[in-house]
Amino acid sequence: MQRPRVDDPGMHGYRKHRPEPTDRDVYRSDHTPCGGTHCPECELVVRKGRWVRADDGAQPSGPPQLCPACQRVRDRYPAGRIRLVGDPGELADELRRLARKTEASEREEHPLERLMELEVNESGLTASTTGVHLARRLGSVFERRLRGRIEIRYGEEEGQVRIEGSI
Ligand SMILES: [Zn+2]
Repeated sequence: MQRPRVDDPGMHGYRKHRPEPTDRDVYRSDHTPCGGTHCPECELVVRKGRWVRADDGAQPSGPPQLCPACQRVRDRYPAGRIRLVGDPGELADELRRLARKTEASEREEHPLERLMELEVNESGLTASTTGVHLARRLGSVFERRLRGRIEIRYGEEEGQVRIEGSI
């Protein structure tokens, strides 16, 4: 098992903006640990090199280790950030529902794609995700619903995306 370097003592508290370069491996799906490893937070397990739902009831045979999605939640380090500016008015509830529904559908196939935060208030919508796919999908869902223009900006690092627009 490859120990995530983010767990090194002394590394916490230094990631206000982004992790040190050596920390990134822990979020990468191609650094998946050995088969049977299971996440103590969300109970995903590693099978054939992928984090999947253990919906057959089999007991995990490997060591516990946070999956990349739970690791991002713990580090408060989203892969996708969405910011739509403007008062949604009576659309607020609908936007929340759309976001939850889109997450549920994306997560069905890709269990590491999750909403981290979602806030809708009179100044706009703010959301963050554990994966770039969900962020992009949310962007196009909102774009269709709001008939607005959504811009997708990619971060300096691979695996970071920012969605911006107005309501
Ligand atoms: Zn997990």
